[in-house]
Amino acid sequence: MSRLLHRGRATPPVAVSGQGCWLRDSEGREVLDASGGAAVSCLGHGHPEVIAAVQQQVAALEYAHTGFFTNEPAERLGEVLVGHEPGGLSRAYFVSGGSEAMEAALKLARQHFVEKGEPRRTRFIARRQSYHGNTLGALALGGNAARRAPYAPILADAFSHVSAAFPYRGMRESEDEQGYVACLAEELEAEFQRLGPGNVAAFVAETVVGATAGCAAPPAGYFRAVREICDRHGALLILDEVMSGMGRTGTLHAWEQEGIAPDIQAIAKGLGGGYQPIGAILMNDRVLAPIMAGSGAFQHGHTYLSHPVACAAALAVQEVIARDGLLGRVQAMGARLEAGLVERFGNHRHVGDIRGRGLFRAIELVADRATREPFEPTRRLNQRIRDEAFARGLAVYPGGGTADGTRGDHILLAPPYIAGEAEIDLILERLGEAVDAAL
Ligand code: PLP
Repeated sequence: MSRLLHRGRATPPVAVSGQGCWLRDSEGREVLDASGGAAVSCLGHGHPEVIAAVQQQVAALEYAHTGFFTNEPAERLGEVLVGHEPGGLSRAYFVSGGSEAMEAALKLARQHFVEKGEPRRTRFIARRQSYHGNTLGALALGGNAARRAPYAPILADAFSHVSAAFPYRGMRESEDEQGYVACLAEELEAEFQRLGPGNVAAFVAETVVGATAGCAAPPAGYFRAVREICDRHGALLILDEVMSGMGRTGTLHAWEQEGIAPDIQAIAKGLGGGYQPIGAILMNDRVLAPIMAGSGAFQHGHTYLSHPVACAAALAVQEVIARDGLLGRVQAMGARLEAGLVERFGNHRHVGDIRGRGLFRAIELVADRATREPFEPTRRLNQRIRDEAFARGLAVYPGGGTADGTRGDHILLAPPYIAGEAEIDLILERLGEAVDAAL
């Protein structure tokens, strides 16, 4: 019997090795990793250069506390990420994962306003279809009511939620994209007014919604409208690109496609590609200015900040992505994946929507295409498709089903950026079989 507390009652197969887009278990079974775990494995498995970087770093320096030292891989990674000031982001702060990054983002925003002399700004507005992590602050911030419910009595009360930009579920038939954006902007403005604009610290959003909506990309102009509202009210814009960032949508940051930049950004998964646990927040000078002029330090910290081995792994991952032009490949293979999904599922009577960007794609399953009526959550269709796919040697990521306002089940695909045509085609073939078997 396994002594681990697993996600379910059963002990899952034991993963023993990985190469490229493939994982192998202790029974010798090969599984095509079509979701990069949870949109993590951007370089695939077993990349020799990343392995070498980790080995060299652990041999040279495994750890040195940031209370005393900085370290070379962390400094170089900071330079790679914000040295060229994309969108004015100028500093990086390295933590161990996505939830930690989101907690740090919330605290940095709060400290910014305390030191700026605006301590009344205690409120954060997030969106109903959102997931920002499982720690208590991130969970309170997130919009997934089902995940939040058991912990509601112990969650902070500083968070409220508006609609996400999710055209398939939110846009009315009579509306065009412009009208939909105007409607969402009006709702956000109304929420600022309800809370009192001077009480709001930040608006927080996933640039492309991951697990709770299944790769829901914003309509054109949405983030420009959001940025304008935040600026007008003196609030910060925090973008959570833990899942959608670091190349996953075809640009390094998903916000680059929106014509805006955030004040604080969270990244994780694709930053280290799974070779080490690492996340980060990136921030602009505006956020830091009152802190640097005041106390001089972000009042936060974890033991493993700027961990040298984690930073060395992430640095190697990012260098390979840049050197090998993998963002171009994400765009090309993403287009192939999208075309394949449309060909295979475009007329499927239970596939209501095919969406996403780059190698970040999802299909949403519905009982009725015309009405967009979801399947009953008790059918657990997303889990059944996941199981059928896994039985066929394909790992896909199930989502939706129980999220607020999005009862549709979806299947999320996020293959490694190194995936080739043959792998993309095999994902499509096996997913098609799994959907048919589960329905
Ligand atoms: N934010 C988003 C958008 C995520 O998708 C996730 C994880 O799935 C998190 C935050 C939390 O990241 P982690 O699981 O690394 O704590």
